[in-house]
Amino acid sequence: MNVADSRRLASALEQLGFDPTTKPKEADVIVLNTCVVRQSAEEKAIGRLSSLKPLKANNPDLVINLMGCLVGVRGNQKIREKFPWVDVLSPPSDPEPLIRFLSERNAKQTSIKKQTEINTILDNGFNLPHNDLGHLISAYIPIVYGCSHACTYCIIPAKRGIEHSRPYEEVLNEAYSLVNQGVKEITLLGQIVDRYGLDLPEKPTLAQLLSDLHEIKDLKRIRFLTSHPNWMTDELLETVARLPKVCEHIEVPIQAGDDEILHAMGRGYSASTYRQLISKIRETIPGVSIATDIIVGFPGETEAQFQKTYCLLEELRLDVAHLARYSPRTGTFSARKMEDDVPESEKMRRFRLLEELQKKIATEINANFLGQSITVLFEEKSRGRWRGRTKTNKLVFVESEKDLLGQECDVDVYWTGPWSMVGTLAHPSA
Ligand code: SAM
Repeated sequence: MNVADSRRLASALEQLGFDPTTKPKEADVIVLNTCVVRQSAEEKAIGRLSSLKPLKANNPDLVINLMGCLVGVRGNQKIREKFPWVDVLSPPSDPEPLIRFLSERNAKQTSIKKQTEINTILDNGFNLPHNDLGHLISAYIPIVYGCSHACTYCIIPAKRGIEHSRPYEEVLNEAYSLVNQGVKEITLLGQIVDRYGLDLPEKPTLAQLLSDLHEIKDLKRIRFLTSHPNWMTDELLETVARLPKVCEHIEVPIQAGDDEILHAMGRGYSASTYRQLISKIRETIPGVSIATDIIVGFPGETEAQFQKTYCLLEELRLDVAHLARYSPRTGTFSARKMEDDVPESEKMRRFRLLEELQKKIATEINANFLGQSITVLFEEKSRGRWRGRTKTNKLVFVESEKDLLGQECDVDVYWTGPWSMVGTLAHPSA
């Protein structure tokens, strides 16, 4: 979501005549887009923000914009007091404060274009991506902003505000525009992406949106994330199975394998319903890959409860598990009402156990592709190797002198590991 927000803001800045630079010292404007989902992310953001202070001292004209969850939807006076070198505070997904600030300085600034252009950008609600996306093959489109499902540990609803879906036409227009500019793969985003449309007057579903996006001629692939076990409909799963461009990859977090912990987390399902859902996904979508998220060390989590998570992960053999150690976030229910009583060392031990287990599972799953031919969409070349993904979201590297950017090619796999595979082009003369 933050990558999508940053790109949208970058597009607006480019339309105003700014060029990107990789050197902070050269910048006229620096935007720090922040995540605070865990304490470590917040600390990183604050560290980065502090490192910008000398730049501002050396160049008072530099505009520093702090964006995202460190600011939150309600704004934050304390942040302004603590970091006085920040010029603009922007809530998540909202480029407007920066553009307004630059607009107000426009009279003095010669580096940005005239006021009408600023007004156009403000008026169109930042929905028009810039007409030069460089070599972007895979783009994100947020379709549901905010979240209203109050998981007891999660700061996102407080920081990103209540759930609201983007209008259907707006999403379609953005997708057509991106594809016209060379994008081949679109990933639809939402905290609970399956709830898309429930708050819109016509109640369109994610499945309908996928069907309409599927009609875009030069679009090769469509993904969506993140799903919630309670909101994945049969219609959605059948649509994924039916439409060839919709990737057979599902991101559906479980968070814990113990029912009491799931209840305390406020997730709204049990381990056995999650197990049934995984079976249904696998029956409906042949060859599907599945990713999950897990939090270890939630308040009160006993060794026996952790073992249930371990055993469930071992049983389900999912393709990917994003693991996190519980981190109390000020303002959440769990931080207020539950004691963070699992010691850090114990959280780390549980984390490492799951990490080892998942590494073993992923190694075994990927080893099945050894000697096989798989189809890969190539997204970029870095350090002499082309990097791409299968529809099931497996990372694949290939060495080739050809220009494979944006191409879907068959690859013969000769090496597999837990996190990636390496192969050669199957039809090198094609
Ligand atoms: N919306 C998705 C869902 O319903 O699960 C996931 C979005 S959240 C940004 C990404 C992941 O961060 C979560 O799945 C969870 O595993 C992790 N997370 C959120 N709050 C956390 C906390 N307080 N401590 C540790 N991990 C956390």
